[in-house]
Amino acid sequence: MTVNYEKLWGEALMEIELNVSRANFITWFKNTGIAKEENGIIFLNVPNTFVKEWLSTKYSKFILRALNNIYPSVRNIEYLITPVGPQIIKAQSSVKNMPFIAEEQLGFNDFYIDKEANLNPKYTFESFIVGSFNEVAHAAALAVTKTPGTIYNPLFIYGGVGLGKTHLLQAIGNKLKETNPEAKIHYLTSEKFASDFINAVQNKTVYDFKEKYRKFNLLIIDDIQFFSDKLKIQEEFFHIFNTLYERNNQLIFSSDRSPKHIVGLEERLRSRFEGGMMVDVSKPEFEARIAIVKTKAEAKGFPIDQETVEFIALAIQDNIRELEGAINSIIGQSKIKGKILSINEIKEILKKNAKPVKTVTFTDIVKAISSFYDINEKSLFEKTRKKEIVKPRQIAMYLLREDLNISYPYIGQKFGQRDHTTVIHAYKKVDEAIKKDVKFCEEIENIRCILYGKSV
Ligand code: ADP
Ligand code: MG
Repeated sequence: MTVNYEKLWGEALMEIELNVSRANFITWFKNTGIAKEENGIIFLNVPNTFVKEWLSTKYSKFILRALNNIYPSVRNIEYLITPVGPQIIKAQSSVKNMPFIAEEQLGFNDFYIDKEANLNPKYTFESFIVGSFNEVAHAAALAVTKTPGTIYNPLFIYGGVGLGKTHLLQAIGNKLKETNPEAKIHYLTSEKFASDFINAVQNKTVYDFKEKYRKFNLLIIDDIQFFSDKLKIQEEFFHIFNTLYERNNQLIFSSDRSPKHIVGLEERLRSRFEGGMMVDVSKPEFEARIAIVKTKAEAKGFPIDQETVEFIALAIQDNIRELEGAINSIIGQSKIKGKILSINEIKEILKKNAKPVKTVTFTDIVKAISSFYDINEKSLFEKTRKKEIVKPRQIAMYLLREDLNISYPYIGQKFGQRDHTTVIHAYKKVDEAIKKDVKFCEEIENIRCILYGKSV
């Protein structure tokens, strides 16, 4: 492809910027640029190893998706360490004319996440939208901010991904930090708790570890379901829980399911969790989704018209994070194109944002695979054993089975009347290759990323 790299990267950055906090954007994308493109692989110039690692582990999907949105033939990203020179396009220069807008400015606060409490100041009650799907959880959270350590202790919030648990947990922390500046507050995930503990064991600092946790007035542990089956950690945590609880310190937890449904959770911990206040957050109803889309777009300084708002709210039903992702993409694309998008353009964007099962079809998978491997769509269905066709065909079969749950015989029939055992064979082959071969696994991930967008 012949491309103006500077322009391409500039456009991609505009979209990336919307999905990344301002602080992170500046930190990681400064002094980056496109070096070259070869066979659908974009080589990015990055200033040092540190940035390379960070971008490749944390942002590759955003980058791939943003570039692929503009040039569908982009399939992968590689990083080249190139110390900063004048030839490299500065990330900031492409966005310098954009107004700083409310929520992005908040991202700056990422710099100021205080080490002590580990709270992100952008998660507040003020920015939390309440509807019947989360009003009980919201009310319980508010009650805790008024009288911490008393009636709702522990507070246990559970529900599916992207429904606002972390937001609510941190909002409580932020509020209490404001009203009780002296209080020792700490937010962390259960994984961090576990890794802290393991480090303490290795460094023989378990005593300090215990002391550290026992002095908190408010301890918030997110995604506690990861304690499942980690009995040693559960035991350690149980003692910390008891100490804090007996001293009327507040404990708050979240989980993707209720304590009853966390397998591998010790009975005594389960009963502690259930002994306080348990509330769930469910999926937002249509009206709430409308309010969320409207408010988020306005907060980004980019009001969206009612028809579009309703359209988005109908298309994405399960997850507030996905709603946010869709809004960001729509705003990003509108900025790039310099106009309000048509409903059809928005449909295209939503396709990439929404969950697999909902919007990806048989045809989408076939299209994605043929463009990814740069082969003719028709050749996937022909009776050829050419290597460059066989592999994509097997991957197509795999994804149709794995992601769309289409039956083997049906897939076989679609692919030129092949026997269902052929499809099973293809499925197994791909499945094994994914487990064995990291490069191959990455390839599949990239195809999925292009198919579904960042939500995978
Ligand atoms: P969870 O922890 O349940 O997976 P998060 O709290 O991370 O979900 O929420 C995902 C995204 O959606 C976050 O950016 C969050 O700010 C936003 N969000 C979730 N619920 C709400 C809400 N009720 N009002 C406004 N934003 C919300
Ligand atoms: Mg969360």
